Amino acid sequence: MDSKNLYITTTLPYVNADPHIGFAFELVQADIIARVKKLQGFNVFFNTGTDEHGMKIFQKAKEEGKDPQAYVDEYAEKFKQLKNNLNLDPGLHFIRTTDSKHIEAAQEIWKKCFKKGDIYKKKYKGLYCVGDEAFVKESDLVDGKCPNHPNMDLVEIEEENYFFKLTNYKEQLKEYLNKKESVIPETRRKEAQSIVDALEDISISRDKSRFSWGVPVPEDDSQVMYVWFDALTSYISTLGWPNSDEFDKFWTNGQTLQLAGKDQVKFQSIIWQAMLFSADLPNTKTVLYHGFITSGGKKMSKSLGNVINPNDLIEKYGVDALRYYLAREVTPFEDSDVTEEKFKVAYNANLANGLGNLVSRVMKMAEDNLEEAVKIVEFEDMNKFFGIINNFEINKAADYIWLEIGKMDLFIQENVPFKVVKTDKDAGQKMISELVTRLYSVARMLNPILPETSSKIKELIEQNKSPGQPLFARMD
Ligand SMILES: [Zn+2]
Repeated sequence: MDSKNLYITTTLPYVNADPHIGFAFELVQADIIARVKKLQGFNVFFNTGTDEHGMKIFQKAKEEGKDPQAYVDEYAEKFKQLKNNLNLDPGLHFIRTTDSKHIEAAQEIWKKCFKKGDIYKKKYKGLYCVGDEAFVKESDLVDGKCPNHPNMDLVEIEEENYFFKLTNYKEQLKEYLNKKESVIPETRRKEAQSIVDALEDISISRDKSRFSWGVPVPEDDSQVMYVWFDALTSYISTLGWPNSDEFDKFWTNGQTLQLAGKDQVKFQSIIWQAMLFSADLPNTKTVLYHGFITSGGKKMSKSLGNVINPNDLIEKYGVDALRYYLAREVTPFEDSDVTEEKFKVAYNANLANGLGNLVSRVMKMAEDNLEEAVKIVEFEDMNKFFGIINNFEINKAADYIWLEIGKMDLFIQENVPFKVVKTDKDAGQKMISELVTRLYSVARMLNPILPETSSKIKELIEQNKSPGQPLFARMD
């Protein structure tokens, strides 16, 4: 039997920029899944946090004349605020890679892999890109420059770094990736399988003289961990690993689900899983990859001026409007394009009209024609709706709700209960009561997606009242 404990985490964003809509999407996706699992009776450990080490952060802090710790504290606060701004599950955990318990865990997993013989020191000479904090392979050079940083000069460096023997885990990774549930969607699983075919060991430390803002390598003062053993370990340090009951409950004996962007396949499904193999820890059951959000057909960037800040949309349209858009109008696995114009069109059509209008019509009829609130029988089969979300097709689950909204609109149009009730009171009241009951079931399904709106609708039904103001005001 499958465990009723679910661990679910987002990736940890790097704190060198404000939260953008792509990360809000990942958080809202995770939040909807976490809420649905709770409704299905799961114990849920829901996690997010911030990745706070690395030279880029160190340099940015210096540029702004700040102490790096003060700088990351400020950013961590901005990301923590998303919990309230996006109305995320109140139980959300937040791990920072500068937390002392995280630093200890990163050193512990390093020690385990080292003992296993999977970490070795190697002299390395090559062209180093400061922008990527990594060596660039000769074969990847474009006109002698880093493909990601054509305006930066590469520096020739010779240094000794620690390497992780990814190649030791080729067969085990293959076996892991043969399981369909290991990577969703299928295109990303195929991608992961092709990466395994061309595996190379990876460099996992940097010389302290060039890279100081990070976790010290155990028993080697000259080296600091580079990204992987630091950032990826956060998924279990948040559970209190190496010594905690939470780890046993949710990681060892629970179902584990990680969400990430589609450019993360190598990191989440290869490097992290190999680290887990090496440390004799269970693998992640499923890594779920989402697409990117573009704006106006282009990648969002400061220089193009097309960056969409989720907080701006929330301020103008409300948190449930943003949650609606991310759940239904953004596809879960492929890229989606978002502009404020598209956002407004969807908002007016499906929230101001669609849902908001239906609530006003039904509850106005109920208030005018029913003597008391409709008694709702709580038991109802939500399996079909849950099933869609269990397949991570959140947009389809939302479609399913809006299909019911459309059916109810049609019912009102065809049966005109507000007219019938004037000539045949009983028949009219019966139709209106049925509509209220159906509206309640819409509210139940909306609960994980639009929690605030769901409660408002339930409250109106309990009080047999029409909303004084539309739930979603039309925006021009
Ligand atoms: Zn670069």
